[in-house]
Amino acid sequence: MNKIYVGIDLGGTNIKIGVVSNGQIIAQTALPAHAELPMQKNLPGIRDAINALLKSANLSHTDLGGVGISFPSVVDNQAKRILTKYVKFPGAESVDFNQWSMDCWNVPVALENDARAALVAEWQYGSGKGYKNIVLVTLGTGFGSAVLIDGQLFRGAHHAGGNLGGHTIINFKGQPCNCGARGCMETEASGWVLDEKWKIDPEFRESKLADEPQISFVKVFEWAAQDAFANKILSHSLHAWSANIFNLVHHFDPQIVIMGGGIMKSGDKIIPQIQKFLDDNIWQGSGVVKVVPATHTDFAGMLGMAYLASL
Ligand SMILES: [Zn+2]
Repeated sequence: MNKIYVGIDLGGTNIKIGVVSNGQIIAQTALPAHAELPMQKNLPGIRDAINALLKSANLSHTDLGGVGISFPSVVDNQAKRILTKYVKFPGAESVDFNQWSMDCWNVPVALENDARAALVAEWQYGSGKGYKNIVLVTLGTGFGSAVLIDGQLFRGAHHAGGNLGGHTIINFKGQPCNCGARGCMETEASGWVLDEKWKIDPEFRESKLADEPQISFVKVFEWAAQDAFANKILSHSLHAWSANIFNLVHHFDPQIVIMGGGIMKSGDKIIPQIQKFLDDNIWQGSGVVKVVPATHTDFAGMLGMAYLASL
């Protein structure tokens, strides 16, 4: 029998785990992330969930060929270490995931940045199939990005290549960012910045959004057609995303841009605007670079990591 691979998507809210065979998820589960606890303390729960999943699929440790883990941070895939702190899972940089996996199942770990994992899933099994030059962005709490160049994941000299699209400066006179810089993409349009950026606007009190416990993109899209302030936020956000994706397209010259992440539930209102902005402005020409939605909205991380674990 072919080996099966486990893909783990370590997110700040949920830890998604899938058992994957030939690109098909044959068993999966999600655990609540105890993201305020040290990474090390989350590992026993993950191990137990994997063992339970294998058992539920009538599989044993010997069927397992490898474990892949995606993480929302800069990752050294060769050394299999997390390089930069994430706001959650403290101590993740000092965890030896490979040793953990060897101790649990005697198989190696593949470790990769979460946006790269999503890109691999789309490239192998989704919207990016057949393409060799892809930019993937995820719109959610933050703005994630990853790049495939000539059929290879772009990693750069310090493992951050293509992954810092949320922290490219698009407004050098803008607000301070949580990364220490000013005017990053995420300070202009991202889930985490909505509340602090817009609640101080004088027009906020007149808006329907003032009746909501917090400003979310779900509510912004809901009210945009009838509420001037919600429409102002939406228009600003679409311009910011367009400008940043324009920059990524100019830097990496992809064939397609794949857009995923939670905010893309409203993708039908986002993609046409981004596509038009690119068609009107990029040097590659109108209609040359297609903007498409991601195929694997919920399971990209586990699929991509299972694939990388199989290499
Ligand atoms: Zn930043």
